[in-house]
Amino acid sequence: MSEEIPPSKTQIKEYHGKDFGLFFEPSSILYDQSSSFQHITVIETESAGRVLLLDGLVMFSELDEFLYHEMIVHPSMVSHPDPKKVLVIGGGDGGTVRELLKYPVEKIFLVEIDPEVIEVSKRFFPKISESLNSEKVEIINSDGAEFLRNSKEIFDIIIVDSSDPVGPSLSLFTESFLDDVLSHLSGKGFYVSQSGSPIFHWKHLREFFNLVRRKFRNADIYLVPVISYPGTIWSFTVGSLEMDIKEIRRKPPEGLRFYNTDIHRSSFSLPNFVKEIFE
Ligand code: SAM
Repeated sequence: MSEEIPPSKTQIKEYHGKDFGLFFEPSSILYDQSSSFQHITVIETESAGRVLLLDGLVMFSELDEFLYHEMIVHPSMVSHPDPKKVLVIGGGDGGTVRELLKYPVEKIFLVEIDPEVIEVSKRFFPKISESLNSEKVEIINSDGAEFLRNSKEIFDIIIVDSSDPVGPSLSLFTESFLDDVLSHLSGKGFYVSQSGSPIFHWKHLREFFNLVRRKFRNADIYLVPVISYPGTIWSFTVGSLEMDIKEIRRKPPEGLRFYNTDIHRSSFSLPNFVKEIFE
């Protein structure tokens, strides 16, 4: 049995199931306040670096954020022949934008509902959020679904890097939102959405993927291991009209730590328990 946890240690816990989950024993709590949308916490830990939590759920840790941010961006950016205009919904920490700026895109719209998340990221995660200062990035503080509904733009890539479909993110997983994605996506475009854990959120994943499959000619799921997420295995759902995201059409940027073209191909191979979700 592990030794008793010394009572003096503060613990920040995220429950993944009724009786187990992830905990941190932070060396300090750097920020802990509610915005008008959610509760924002930043903690310092020895083993995982700094961690951002929203409403008590881990958004990323400095230890493993590269896994998620590389994999939400590079498969579609390496498969699209020449993406110029990109929409990111959520992603106020800047990690997704940082990866996108490794390509010669012309413009990135970042639609983040909560300006506090951007401020907190700039203050405590400068290396992740510095990309938000790029002149190629236009930041809009709005609900992503409302922005898309009223936008006149057509995008080559639309990425939904939102929190889980509870609270403010709910609007990003509806049929009407997908209809708006379809009417704002170019012919060769890709729509990529974080779609949760195939272990703990499999009902949501099944409903959401079946909706994407109904709306788009091509629909795929790919997986990535993210240490600090529930069940570690995390999913991304992809919709496209003409293009197959499993095809690699460009060289990836140098210096990536997780993504490479072998990972690109293998991440679309699904384990049996995930295939069974859709049978
Ligand atoms: N990597 C994280 C994950 O997979 O859970 C997501 C990180 S990012 C910090 C999530 C962001 O989505 C938050 O900053 C949140 O404010 C934003 N968000 C949630 N709902 C939104 C909406 N409807 N429109 C725009 N941004 C939204």
